[in-house]
Amino acid sequence: MATLAPDVLQGRGALPAGRDTRVVVLSGAGISAESGLPTFRGDGGLWEGMRPEEVATPEAFRRDPALVWRFYEARRRALDAAVPNAAHRALVDLERALTPGSFALITQNVDDLHQRAGSQTVFPMHGELRKVRCTACGAFEERREELPALPTCDCGAVLRPHVVWFGETPLFLDRITPLLRRAQVFLVVGTSGHVYPAAGFIFEARAAGAWTVGVNVEEAEADWAYDAFHLGKAGSVLPELVRGWLKALLVIEMQEALRPHDGVTRGEATPGGAS
Ligand SMILES: [Zn+2]
Repeated sequence: MATLAPDVLQGRGALPAGRDTRVVVLSGAGISAESGLPTFRGDGGLWEGMRPEEVATPEAFRRDPALVWRFYEARRRALDAAVPNAAHRALVDLERALTPGSFALITQNVDDLHQRAGSQTVFPMHGELRKVRCTACGAFEERREELPALPTCDCGAVLRPHVVWFGETPLFLDRITPLLRRAQVFLVVGTSGHVYPAAGFIFEARAAGAWTVGVNVEEAEADWAYDAFHLGKAGSVLPELVRGWLKALLVIEMQEALRPHDGVTRGEATPGGAS
């Protein structure tokens, strides 16, 4: 399997190496699929014989809110059984190794697996399955319990899932754009780049000078936009990739610590390494 060795970090100067490197991650359905959550894309991605495009729309909700809620309640219950996998955990390791404020995770996933794994800076751009939003007063809150067939707000109006439906504008775009513009590393995991605007993020980050890395079970749509691409399951590729990066960071820090500073040559290393 391809590992990002220290020479990738140091050679070519491609990847700025330091704990204050600004890393932005975009994750997609592939990372959740490895936790057993259905992606509803590709072959067989049907729910009760319907394509998600027929259920996850404002029109479908206006027509038959109870049907749409049945779809989401099933997904909410599936979430209870799913647990974060090694890929989710690797992103937590990466965030913890970097200086606070250097890491941001944009996810297209509506599950809470990144948050449950321990990721701190998460932008769920397509909303969150655990939350509900009022169709009248706009109030939203987390509701983990099983919901009635047609849940209502305290104000009396019908609640909807706090997710972004087909034809609606994703969340956090005002926060995401500046992140992409200042990213030094842009890592795309578990998404092949079919759904816009997320599919366009790599071009924005790349145009701003970021070093781009992809991890997915299938080739990227825009493969030319990647400086490095690792074909494989996120759960096996990503932990190795992150371990390689963190090891390389340590090597660089060690070299930095041993380098003479300000023209002053340090004393001879004490035999045995102790001083
Ligand atoms: Zn309300």
